[in-house]
Amino acid sequence: MPARNILVINCGSSSIKFALVNEEQPQFALSGLAERLGSPDAQVQWQHNGNKDSLILPHADHRSALAQVLPLVQTAAGGQLHGIGHRVVHGGEHFTSACLLDALSLAAIRATAPLAPLHNPANLLGIEAAIKLFPDLPQVAVFDTAFHQTLPEHAFRYALPDALYREHGVRRYGFHGTSHRFVSQRAAEISGLDYQHSSWLVAHLGNGCSTCAVVDGQSRDTSMGLTPLEGVVMGTRSGDVDPNLHSHLARTLGWSLERIDAVLNKESGLLGLSGLSNDMRSLEEARAQGHPGATLAIEVFCYRLAKSLAAMSCALQHLDGLIFTGGIGENSALIRSKTVAHLRLLNLSLDESANARTVRGASGAIHAQGHSRVMVVPTNEERQIALDTLTLIEA
Ligand code: AMP
Repeated sequence: MPARNILVINCGSSSIKFALVNEEQPQFALSGLAERLGSPDAQVQWQHNGNKDSLILPHADHRSALAQVLPLVQTAAGGQLHGIGHRVVHGGEHFTSACLLDALSLAAIRATAPLAPLHNPANLLGIEAAIKLFPDLPQVAVFDTAFHQTLPEHAFRYALPDALYREHGVRRYGFHGTSHRFVSQRAAEISGLDYQHSSWLVAHLGNGCSTCAVVDGQSRDTSMGLTPLEGVVMGTRSGDVDPNLHSHLARTLGWSLERIDAVLNKESGLLGLSGLSNDMRSLEEARAQGHPGATLAIEVFCYRLAKSLAAMSCALQHLDGLIFTGGIGENSALIRSKTVAHLRLLNLSLDESANARTVRGASGAIHAQGHSRVMVVPTNEERQIALDTLTLIEA
């Protein structure tokens, strides 16, 4: 049987990220981004076998943008497309793993929308457009939350009145599950350990950041909660704050809920602390020039990240390794070094030359001899979504 091709789609409210994943090729034959959909400046850009191209599509919606992408996909796949995998942010308690898309599963994803009012409806736009354009292809939804459905109740419950959980689903769900699963599996593979009998701490550090405790191939705790705002410091999200902050800001400044939401989600984190940027590269450059805000943002980011990892260690019996991934985790030797420096009680220490050279897509161990394992493992959510899609198609 020739190697199979899966189109992976990650749909936002005004964008579609896509990649054509071949089960045997490490590189994507085709990848691209349609953005500013619905506006006069809508456009799609793509890379096919290393060649870049783009097309302006004024006022294109999700369906017409996907229709433009379709011939590119068919060409890149040599006419052999076997299925489509969709990233869906929230699967609630209903979805504990990926699922084939049909009328029932679509209704269940729609029913989960109140838990992710910004993300799930956007994901559904992509799914509905793809089903109309490819009615005969099997299509699969892969959920960011599903991997965390193995959290024990003591880890996923908030100390709130029981009815808020029972009647309204207020609990911790966690996100970035596809990434935590992919890198913990890869780390076990690279280390020659049996994934089903291994224990990991994972730091996924991109624009969004989260930590996770993975035991015997299952998520046992994670830093994000009901929404992706909980947990560690992120690009523009605050992470944990005092839950009374909302009422404090409303009372003392007269701020509306919408304003408080926007500040915590879009104006806080690295951007808020530094007053400069949400981008770690820019902050590292500014810190090197002595910028006090950038210096403080990096210190707070690393300390709170270390605190979260130490908290996650409560879910482990032993530690096989700490894994760094995501744009920051894969590239920033500084952030890894500063974070690990706070974790000496977990017997963590880095080999600084291994740390410095393990960047730009490299993977491997970066710990000092005699200390617990620390690894850098590049994430690949598209590949994981394609693998899950293939598994369901085979089943
Ligand atoms: P992601 O969302 O996974 O693409 O990660 C985006 C984050 O990774 C941004 O904060 C980038 O500044 C950061 N990043 C990418 N490359 C580097 C680098 N070489 N050094 C530090 N941060 C980086």
